[in-house]
Amino acid sequence: MKFATKLVHYDVSPGDPFHPMATPIYQTATFEQDFGDSFGPYDYSRSGNPTRRVLEDQLARLENGIRAFCFSSGMAAIATVTRLLKPGDEILADWDLYGGATRLFQQLKDHSGVAVRYVDASNPEILASQISPATRLVYVESPTNPLLRVIDLQASARIAHENGLHLCVDNSTMSPYLQNPLELGADIVIHSATKFLGGHSDVTGGAVVVKDEALAAQIYSVQNAEGTALGPFDCFLLLRGLKTLKLRMDAQQSSAGQIAAQLSEHPKVSRVYYPGLPDHPSSATQKLQARGAGSVISFQAGSPQAAKAIAENLRLFAIAVSFGSVNSTIGIPIKMSHASTPVDLQSSRAIPSDLIRMSIGIEDCGELMQDLDDVLKLI
Ligand SMILES: *Cc1c(COP(=O)(O)O)cnc(C)c1O
Repeated sequence: MKFATKLVHYDVSPGDPFHPMATPIYQTATFEQDFGDSFGPYDYSRSGNPTRRVLEDQLARLENGIRAFCFSSGMAAIATVTRLLKPGDEILADWDLYGGATRLFQQLKDHSGVAVRYVDASNPEILASQISPATRLVYVESPTNPLLRVIDLQASARIAHENGLHLCVDNSTMSPYLQNPLELGADIVIHSATKFLGGHSDVTGGAVVVKDEALAAQIYSVQNAEGTALGPFDCFLLLRGLKTLKLRMDAQQSSAGQIAAQLSEHPKVSRVYYPGLPDHPSSATQKLQARGAGSVISFQAGSPQAAKAIAENLRLFAIAVSFGSVNSTIGIPIKMSHASTPVDLQSSRAIPSDLIRMSIGIEDCGELMQDLDDVLKLI
């Protein structure tokens, strides 16, 4: 089945005598048992819920994994993966990460004895040279957020596996429509479902997808033990949003390509970061491992004042953290999404203070471009 068909053709309610077209919301905490000494397929919603299971199975199918797990947020999904490590173990992570991930990793060091070291994973030789005997997990996003650097996922997987490590890829900026890290060799895929999977800024959620039974059992054990699973209504919202993933991303990506080209030719924009532009240093890798460059664009406005003025004067771009919504949004990473990066790490991360990150929505592309043109004239 092709991806567009897969998005809407699946068993939305296994075993249901009424054959609904949409998955029912099983808003129940517990399930009555037939016997005192054995359980049915579901007994308690922390451990398993039919609405959640339909969503998890659909995500596993879209990412070509064997099992997916849905969490109350992307951060809960990331935290769950870190639970696979023991004191003394180390995560080797690319340095350009979501601010919240860096904040979580900082706490790991202090509270769990798991060290996190940062490398430039966009260079496979550097990545390979930085693996230590304590390293257990290689952790990357691609394209990275907010600098849209591209990590060669096949090379990273090869390096990880040569050293007996797992590769975990946060696929939030691409979604399974544009990139499938498990097929490129990754062992674990993470999504902030809050972004493109939901797509409507109306649900916070996260997912972990794996292709190996042993890893699935470990992730399930943590999800069940810690009670971080996504609630039934939020699962329903994600199932609903997911059906239009391809339509949304096709529209958003097409507009993003046009806007990136517009910005890269604009005299007031000093630099555009978008892996779909031919002058992006890794556009060839992006073409090989993904089916497009997505709809997140960053650019430098020349000064922090100009960045602020642009963000505040655009009419059609909401100033908001996050990305992936049907609405276009704009943010200044150093002040917003990445403000949670610990201060001592901020200076070593080359996030320019005049950097603007935009997420292109499904509005009329001509109107978005006009809005940008009008505001760039002002500054
Ligand atoms: C937003 C985001 C997260 C965190 O997800 P939440 O749903 O906000 O908890 C993790 N990784 C990336 C790349 C993100 O953009």
